Amino acid sequence: MNNLEIKKYPDPVLRKKCEEVEEITPEVKKLIEEMVLVMGKDKGMGLAAPQVGISKKIIVFETGNGVTALINPKITKRGEKQFIDSEGCLSFPDLWIKIKRPEKIEVEALDITGRKIGLAASMMVSRVLQHEIDHLNGILFIDRLGLLDKIRIRNKLNALKKKYAGSKSGAKADEK
Ligand SMILES: [Zn+2]
Repeated sequence: MNNLEIKKYPDPVLRKKCEEVEEITPEVKKLIEEMVLVMGKDKGMGLAAPQVGISKKIIVFETGNGVTALINPKITKRGEKQFIDSEGCLSFPDLWIKIKRPEKIEVEALDITGRKIGLAASMMVSRVLQHEIDHLNGILFIDRLGLLDKIRIRNKLNALKKKYAGSKSGAKADEK
């Protein structure tokens, strides 16, 4: 029954700011379940609701210990030390770019039962969380690039625009 599909850049829904989740209804729980399925199917490490076309503050992410869902997540603290690593995004097929982000962050959110939780993350998990929380604010990882890197990936972005603009996400685009 999984009918969600990944919205690909430049789908405008990826630029919309998401709304807070007021109440964790059965629909919200169902959405989270489906997001987890979509993330698993596409082998992502994280997925934000706008990536499946829903402008609500919900993310799911995978760590070594399983999948976690966060509702209304907010970064409350960013460490000073930064690190650079490669990042991909399910909304940007085949694009891997190096991005500098704080190594450690702290996040506040609600869990799936509506309980307020706080978590500290470092390195890869911190990176995934920052990437997904950016999505909730309409920020994409390409926005975090320096000017030179932006120029460097311009052709790749144009190719994605050509492939996905105006088409329904997930439409067959097998040629080339
Ligand atoms: Zn992403």
